[in-house]
Amino acid sequence: MSGLVPVPEARARVLAGVAPLPAERVPLAAALGLVTAERIVARSPVPPFTNSAMDGYALRAADTAAPPARLRVVGLLLAGSHTEVPVGPGDAMRIMTGAPVPPGADAVCMVERVEVSPDGATVTIGHTLAAGDHVRRAGGDVAAGDEVFAAGTVLNAGALGVLAGLGDADVLVHRRPVVGVLSTGDELVEAPGALGPGQIHESNRTALLALVEQSGFVGVDLGVVGDDEHVVANALRDAARRCDAVVTSGGVSVGDRDVVKAVLGEISGGSMQWMQVAVKPAKPFAFGAIGDQQTPVFGLPGNPVSALVSFELFARPALRSMAGHRDLDRPVALAVADEPFARRRDGKVHLVRVEARLGGDGLVHVRSAGGQESHQLHAMARANALAVLPDGDGVAAGGRVDAMLLDAGSLGSAVAATAPGPRP
Ligand code: AMP
Ligand code: MG
Repeated sequence: MSGLVPVPEARARVLAGVAPLPAERVPLAAALGLVTAERIVARSPVPPFTNSAMDGYALRAADTAAPPARLRVVGLLLAGSHTEVPVGPGDAMRIMTGAPVPPGADAVCMVERVEVSPDGATVTIGHTLAAGDHVRRAGGDVAAGDEVFAAGTVLNAGALGVLAGLGDADVLVHRRPVVGVLSTGDELVEAPGALGPGQIHESNRTALLALVEQSGFVGVDLGVVGDDEHVVANALRDAARRCDAVVTSGGVSVGDRDVVKAVLGEISGGSMQWMQVAVKPAKPFAFGAIGDQQTPVFGLPGNPVSALVSFELFARPALRSMAGHRDLDRPVALAVADEPFARRRDGKVHLVRVEARLGGDGLVHVRSAGGQESHQLHAMARANALAVLPDGDGVAAGGRVDAMLLDAGSLGSAVAATAPGPRP
């Protein structure tokens, strides 16, 4: 099939048209999922001082060389306190977890392993300790000058904790892209409006805004516009000023009223790329940049499944790139086809909406999620993966197939290798 653009090529063209958004400082509380825009180096060590890993007694390990050792209790150190009083030979100091190890001491004996005299004045230790036992060294987690995170790190809960532990209150990250979502079509009615003849309820905007949010971007609802060139042009120009990127659905096919394609071609100053991608669903796709800021516009097809698949293939990776991510795509697992996936040769990759589950064998297994036509959104709703069928005859039952995981967290956990408990 000549003229069809392979998916990787279409993806590459889109990625070439976007760049990471400028960096800004945000409070840690607002930074979950954002991507660092600079290398982060520890200015000071963590922990900041050598401290006890246990509730117990700080002592000199050499004093326990020939157990039992009877040591004199010379004080008490709570977390948050400190002392200049040294622990001398034959001394032990009661210490709580997190309290600084006093001068002279080089080990901590856990409280469970000492015998305290009735008057509390001495403790007896029946085993040998080595220097460093139950002691957390200053800088033992992060040393001053260490690179804590490279630029391009996605901030997860642990990373935010590390930054807080370094004493940072904010972090330099790429901005979360603000993404406008616009639906186009004369036949579209917003819920709960009643349908006239030939009309349908508009659904793409709701689903696309949800995908935008789920991907960690900020969605802006740009509403529904009819197939009118002036209205679409004004809506796009206005959106380009307010948003970092715009996602439209409908009007990019080869019909008489494919207005987005026409308007985007015009107002992008000829930079628009309109493609027939070698994929099913989601064949037509338009991409251009408009306005002073050269705001990227992703013109997705109108069929509800096509719109979501096109978003996954092209818009989401590009928006992730704008957000500073290095890892742009959904993970792909080599899965077992639990039923045959037949197809015809047509020059396109077929993406089949499937339910993917972890099986008792620890492998990902896939089954069709239902009707596979591009208007059949119900199967898309059931699907948590897209089975990738390259051009050819398909896959037999029991064969292997790539599965693009749209929601890796929904594979089920019954047999995960890391799950606690015995494996079946
Ligand atoms: P188009 O890409 O504009 O030719 O639309 C293709 C198909 O998708 C048509 O059947 C449209 O009615 C339908 N469609 C377009 N936009 C939407 C939408 N926002 N919600 C639901 N269906 C839509
Ligand atoms: Mg239309």
